[in-house]
Amino acid sequence: MANTLSVLYPTQYEATPHLTETRDQYRELLPQYRSAVPDDEAAQKHTSAPFVYSEEGGATTFVGGCDAAVDWARARLAPSASTAAASSMVDDGFTKEHGFDYDVVVVGGGSGGLACSKECAKLGAKVAVLDFVKPSPAGSTWGLGGTCVNVGCIPKKLMHTASIIGETLKDDAAAFGWKDAAAGAHDWESMKSTVQDHIKSLNFKYRVALREAGITYLNRLGEFEDKNTISLTDKKGNKTSVTAARFIVAVGGRPNKLGCPGGEHAIDSDDLFSLPKAPGRVLCVGGGYIALECGGFTAGMGYPTTCMVRSILLRGFDRECVGKIEAHIKHHGVQLQVGVTPAKIEKDAATGVLTVTDSGGGVHEYDTVLVATGRYADTAALGIDNVPGASANVNAKTKKLECVDEQLPGAPHVYAIGDVVEGRPELTPVAIEAGLRLARRLFGGKTEPMDYECVATTIFTPLEYGTIGLSEDDAKAQLGECNVESYISEFAPLEYALSEARSERGDGCFAKLVVDKSTGKVVGFHYLGPNAGEITQGFSIAMRKGATYADFISTVGIHPTVAEEFTSMTVTKSSGESAAKGGC
Ligand SMILES: Cc1cc2nc3c(=O)[nH]c(=O)nc-3n(C[C@H](O)[C@H](O)[C@H](O)COP(=O)(O)OP(=O)(O)OC[C@H]3O[C@@H](n4cnc5c(N)ncnc54)[C@H](O)[C@@H]3O)c2cc1C
Repeated sequence: MANTLSVLYPTQYEATPHLTETRDQYRELLPQYRSAVPDDEAAQKHTSAPFVYSEEGGATTFVGGCDAAVDWARARLAPSASTAAASSMVDDGFTKEHGFDYDVVVVGGGSGGLACSKECAKLGAKVAVLDFVKPSPAGSTWGLGGTCVNVGCIPKKLMHTASIIGETLKDDAAAFGWKDAAAGAHDWESMKSTVQDHIKSLNFKYRVALREAGITYLNRLGEFEDKNTISLTDKKGNKTSVTAARFIVAVGGRPNKLGCPGGEHAIDSDDLFSLPKAPGRVLCVGGGYIALECGGFTAGMGYPTTCMVRSILLRGFDRECVGKIEAHIKHHGVQLQVGVTPAKIEKDAATGVLTVTDSGGGVHEYDTVLVATGRYADTAALGIDNVPGASANVNAKTKKLECVDEQLPGAPHVYAIGDVVEGRPELTPVAIEAGLRLARRLFGGKTEPMDYECVATTIFTPLEYGTIGLSEDDAKAQLGECNVESYISEFAPLEYALSEARSERGDGCFAKLVVDKSTGKVVGFHYLGPNAGEITQGFSIAMRKGATYADFISTVGIHPTVAEEFTSMTVTKSSGESAAKGGC
């Protein structure tokens, strides 16, 4: 069986059969076999032949005897239960005897690159990962793990949490009997230190994980030299190179810069989470989720914050929900300046104060200007043009890579995952899942493509927003206005019920299911309120399985929770009835 596996899947399995002629000879060798898995109790007691163990991804594991080995092989070879279409990836000419340094070099050790490289190694490939951080214009730099862990999701969520804790202390604690718990002044420096310590511990864990998986980690900037060679530059400028049969580009993106005069005085999200001093008066430029999340948490911590939005907030999301986020963020203390952009930023050399003149002629002073007007793909210095055929797959406008099932059609041995891929959601779990599935197709004999449909996401504005599928407007555009019904509910979660401040402000939750009337299928899920990420993640499984409105409301809820609202929503928007709910 082991020989068969190694013949069928030479890149994944290598069999080392060890035959003995007599039982006594076998028994004499047993201590040697057991010593390969010294901590496995079953292995130490195993006496019958065969004695099967596997070495995979740097780990040695006892499989068992004959039956266990057959089960092990059966599980690995079982066809996937998924009915998803097979990927349309083309043969990239890979053979095991390629003669290059590595089976695959992954360029970029962020969310996608790390997940993909570990999976490739687990499936038997010889892997190297390059990860190198070019300092931001303000000089910030960080460790292994990419955007999410260092300058994205993780510090953002931690700082959002800091702001939510402040709100709970200020608005709720006293009503729940915590008489002396009123929020004091926020200490940015101590929060920044604990956040950065946590990030450093994650950087360390990632390095250990790569070592344990037998992956070569190179803290070098990669640039393609030719079809199979990539040059490596370290932080001192020293150059070397490695070769590989395959490449996976996972270089992510970086924040856009501000083009106006004095734009160099602005920082971006690459700098904010390690800002050594409290930001003071903050201007966030941009109407996307990063600008509003950052502006939301700086305001929540007590720093006077303005968000400057050129046109509309949160383009592409459900407009009714965005309207509620906009109203809430204003109640939360964020000043909104909509319809203007910064025209000029001047810095006072003595005080560091930034005077911003906007396109409408307004002039305001800030201590920090944060630009969050989108991100560009980090491909400019990748030398992609040196790979024959690959430049045809660089999008002229976005500089992202245009792929079919993560493969570059013009250079089939080059693949791309994560934020660098054109037309795909820029989200950590998307980069990870695409990386895992690509690895399994390249080295695991699988065919399942990445499924980018119905990806759930959450925006961590002060009023959190979880969404899956279509906005109401998109549903109407795709299905026809008369074929869409929305069920809505506005309600206050029990957690807010005792707080006078919250009832004065009208803090509450909003739930919306957008339904295709012809099939009953829920095509859009929208939730505004606390713990939106946790709630939305759970419902995303139902949405992927094609749940109908009837499935939602025939589900028995969990009481008292906010999520139970989705099991009892009966007010349709078209009825014009009030969606405000009182009591249980
Ligand atoms: C402020 C902020 C908040 C976010 N919040 C969320 C969130 O809440 N949820 C969510 O899902 N997503 C969030 N994201 C998006 C998420 O961080 C990205 O989608 C994700 O990190 C993309 O992963 P990636 O592997 O494509 O690239 P990255 O994680 O960006 O990793 C790319 C790596 O490659 C390195 N690199 C680049 N070029 C080279 C080269 N030539 N040689 C060697 N190394 C190179 C880079 O330095 C980097 O380390 C957020 C992003 C930001 C900026």
